[in-house]
Amino acid sequence: MGFSTIAIHAGNEPDSATGAVSVPIYQTSTYAQEGLGRHKGFEYARTQNPTRSALEKNIAALEGAHYGFAFASGMSATDAVLKLVKAGDHVIVGDNTYGGTFRLFSKILANYGIEFDYVDTADVTNVEKAFKTNTKMVFVETPTNPIMTVTDLQAVSDVSHAHGARVVCDNTFMSSYLQRPIEFGVDIVVHSTTKYLNGHSDSIGGFVALNDDEDAEWIGFVQNGIGAILSPFDSFLVLRGTKTLAVRMQAHDKNGRAVASFLAEHPRVEKVYYPGLISHPQHELAKRQQKGFGGMVSFETGSLESAKKVLEGVKLCTLAESLGGVETLISHPATMTHASVPVEKRGQLGITDGLVRISVGIEDIEDILEDLDQALS
Ligand SMILES: *Cc1c(COP(=O)(O)O)cnc(C)c1O
Repeated sequence: MGFSTIAIHAGNEPDSATGAVSVPIYQTSTYAQEGLGRHKGFEYARTQNPTRSALEKNIAALEGAHYGFAFASGMSATDAVLKLVKAGDHVIVGDNTYGGTFRLFSKILANYGIEFDYVDTADVTNVEKAFKTNTKMVFVETPTNPIMTVTDLQAVSDVSHAHGARVVCDNTFMSSYLQRPIEFGVDIVVHSTTKYLNGHSDSIGGFVALNDDEDAEWIGFVQNGIGAILSPFDSFLVLRGTKTLAVRMQAHDKNGRAVASFLAEHPRVEKVYYPGLISHPQHELAKRQQKGFGGMVSFETGSLESAKKVLEGVKLCTLAESLGGVETLISHPATMTHASVPVEKRGQLGITDGLVRISVGIEDIEDILEDLDQALS
């Protein structure tokens, strides 16, 4: 079956009680039991909820995974995955990971005896060199936020499996439509559904998809044990969002390419970060690994003042954190999404004060380009 057919039908069987074509929002905390130990498979809504189950089936199918778990946020999904390692274990992490992921690892989980090393995973030899006898997990994000560096998922999976470590990929930037990490050997896929999967900037959520039976059992145990579950209403919203994922991503990709080409030609722009540009150092790898290049584009304006002019000069684009919605959002990584990354590390990564990030929406492209052009001049 094709991607859109799966997106529209997986988990979306007509409701068994009423035939409702759209999965109902089962807004309940508990379920009546017929007798002692006799129930319909639903006991308490932290543990099981039919709306959430439908979404879990849906996104697992989109990722080509056997198991899926929906969480209250992308961060709680990542946190649950990190519950697969224990005190004394070592984790290798991409050095340009989402700011909140870096904060979770370095400021919270490091307090519990988990050891993290940050390397540039774009070069697989850096990953290889970072392995220790206690390395249990490799956590990558590709393309990275906001510098758009691409990591070779197959190469990282091969080297990690040779060392007996699981590979986790945060697939938020590409979405299940543009990139399917499991096909490249990745063990666990994490999403912030807040972004492209929901796609309408009206819900916070996270997802974990994986194939391994034992790891899946543990993630399910953690989901119920800690309770950072996605609510029935948010599950409904994301389920509604994924039905149009393919058409939305095609539109984001088309507009993303147009914005990147426009900026690359613009005299006020010093540099554009977008894997779809032939000038991107990993353009060939991105072409091989992704079905498109998506709607995330970053560019260097040269200074904080120039960045400020663009960020405050736009009229159609909205100055806001987040990404992946139908509307174009523009942001300043150094003071917004990556404010918690230490200044010297930001410098190493290229997250300068002049860097601007755009999550290109699916408005008419002429209007987006006109707005950027007036803000830049
Ligand atoms: C937003 C984001 C997260 C965190 O997700 P929340 O839903 O905000 O908790 C993680 N990774 C990436 C790449 C993100 O963009």
